[in-house]
Amino acid sequence: MRERVLITGAAGFLGSHLCDKFFSEGFEVIAMDNLITGDLKNLEHLNGKEGFTFKHHDVTNFTHVEGKLDHILHFASPASPIDYLRIPIQTLKVGSLGIHRLLGLAKDKKARITIASTSEIYGDPEVHPQHEEYWGSVNPIGPRGVYDEAKRFQEAITTAYHTYHGLETRIARIFNTYGPRMRLNDGRALPAFIGQSLRGEDITVFGDGSQTRSFCYVDDLIDGIFKLHFSSESRPVNLGNPVEISILDFAKEVLKLTGADVKIILKDLPIDDPKKRRPDITRAKEVLNWEPKIDRLEGLKRTFEYFKSLSKEELTRNEHKDFGAYIKK
Ligand code: UDP
Repeated sequence: MRERVLITGAAGFLGSHLCDKFFSEGFEVIAMDNLITGDLKNLEHLNGKEGFTFKHHDVTNFTHVEGKLDHILHFASPASPIDYLRIPIQTLKVGSLGIHRLLGLAKDKKARITIASTSEIYGDPEVHPQHEEYWGSVNPIGPRGVYDEAKRFQEAITTAYHTYHGLETRIARIFNTYGPRMRLNDGRALPAFIGQSLRGEDITVFGDGSQTRSFCYVDDLIDGIFKLHFSSESRPVNLGNPVEISILDFAKEVLKLTGADVKIILKDLPIDDPKKRRPDITRAKEVLNWEPKIDRLEGLKRTFEYFKSLSKEELTRNEHKDFGAYIKK
């Protein structure tokens, strides 16, 4: 009998790739999403296949699955700074009420649960690169606070279920990840730069572009999450690509790839935008024997191919152009 997995946030960027991975590995997949930020288009190719079910449900409400359940991957959450501003309460609720529902379900079904945590729990870090023993530097009432604190609470309650109830838990601290199915206009750097190139608009770099990030291609990340889920590691594990780049250099790299005839322009830096970020992946290497394999140029090419295939309507659909209170006045 096939093992059954529940994936929340299944219509999102990472959730939909996880559905693909578990489905291709022979699991029966129950995909759940409230579609606030997810898009069913990301699951179209699985729709109707035997062993794949989609449930339109908000996990901040009572969450139940009929029959046996062996695995849960909790990936439901808004995940871009623009979304936290637009839907701050939902962001807090899914990271607090939502995780409580899923831990309860995991306990009831004796299922193993992996939660999507984030490098944001380190805030604007004073330690570089960030290793798992660092506790972070987070502004609880800043624009990112609703996400960062919800994710910190999520780690706390997950750890409590592990120590108090003996639940099998896994915590993935996910660093910046990119690839096909990212939302084009959610304000994130890479889709913003590619979308601007494709529309012939200037590329907007925030601040002077000296802030750094380390970008992991989605296939590498999904491989890491799969390995973590089936490992015996209950401590948090950083998953990301340790190759660091400044945002200005990243914008230049994307512009070179797209070949667009546009300029790079500087805009105000958002409030609490972390100055640097790079994962220390020693733990992932040691306990999972995992490290990213796809270099940035290759990953960017694949991502660009995906965005090029979008329709004109998708390319010009403007979810949030107004960064509003996110930008320092
Ligand atoms: N960024 C930028 N231009 C944009 C969108 C983002 O320069 O149009 C910057 C943003 O301020 C941040 C970096 O790119 O310093 C990465 O932003 P993203 O939202 O992708 O990830 P996060 O800040 O959550 O790591």
